[in-house]
Amino acid sequence: MYYGFDMGGTKIELGVFDAELNKVWQKRVPTPRHSYDELLATLIELAHEADAQVGTQGKIGIGVPGMQTGEDGALFTANLPATMGKPLRVDLSQRLQREVRINNDANCFVLSEAWDAEFRSYPVVMGIILGTGLGGGLVVDGRPVEGRNGIAGEFGHLRLPSDALDVIGADIPRVECGCGQSGCIENYISGRGFEWLYEHLYGEALPAVTIIRHYRGGESKALEFVDRFMDLLAACLGNLLTLFDPHLLVLGGGLSNFDEIYQILPTRLPSRLLPIARLPRIEKARHGDAGGVRGAALLHLMDN
Ligand SMILES: [Zn+2]
Repeated sequence: MYYGFDMGGTKIELGVFDAELNKVWQKRVPTPRHSYDELLATLIELAHEADAQVGTQGKIGIGVPGMQTGEDGALFTANLPATMGKPLRVDLSQRLQREVRINNDANCFVLSEAWDAEFRSYPVVMGIILGTGLGGGLVVDGRPVEGRNGIAGEFGHLRLPSDALDVIGADIPRVECGCGQSGCIENYISGRGFEWLYEHLYGEALPAVTIIRHYRGGESKALEFVDRFMDLLAACLGNLLTLFDPHLLVLGGGLSNFDEIYQILPTRLPSRLLPIARLPRIEKARHGDAGGVRGAALLHLMDN
């Protein structure tokens, strides 16, 4: 059995999977946000409860909102104070007497998609989460690419490319990013960025769903805005496609439900790529919110 923990800022979800990736049990509990000891105890209790349910000791994979840094695997989790700087993998594997694997939650999202029955044949899978921020990850031959610092795939913190400035104006404010830089693309092409950009260009603060409704209703400002946004998205993603040349690009997060993206983006990308480039298949994520626990379980299952 394979236990996938999706550890978020507000809840911890556990999915128990068999060797064929069928979910056989699940449970969700609130995340102890500030006490590491409480959080460890919560994870251990969940694992033991799962052991009792399935009658064996499952292997443990955990998706975290951050990454393991340094040699000891101490976590960097900016939005989860309880685990900041803590060697969760070492502590948990000692207490539970089994191997624990930890990876970034966005990497787990992409891993889950890359192992979808229909997508499994693609060697290079790139995932982008257009949510509040912009997360992402790269899976090559069924395994997530982490890099030296666990930051491979932190695409949201690439800075705006020059052709993006052609689309939205070279005088666009370089929005201060939570990472300490400014002008990171997550502040412009994420779901939050979509709303920020509309307000910047048209002086009106509207939720993304309203802008999209206006677009579908043929409202002129919304039509013009979406036209520019798609060009901006293509300019930013074009660089990533040139860098990794994926076979499949999977989009997740709230803005991935804007279905027109899948028709319009492929028409805007070619002018941002080398002339010989064939576009990747571009798809909406198949596993949605369930991808977190599935991807975490795959941290072990991918060895099979
Ligand atoms: Zn940033």
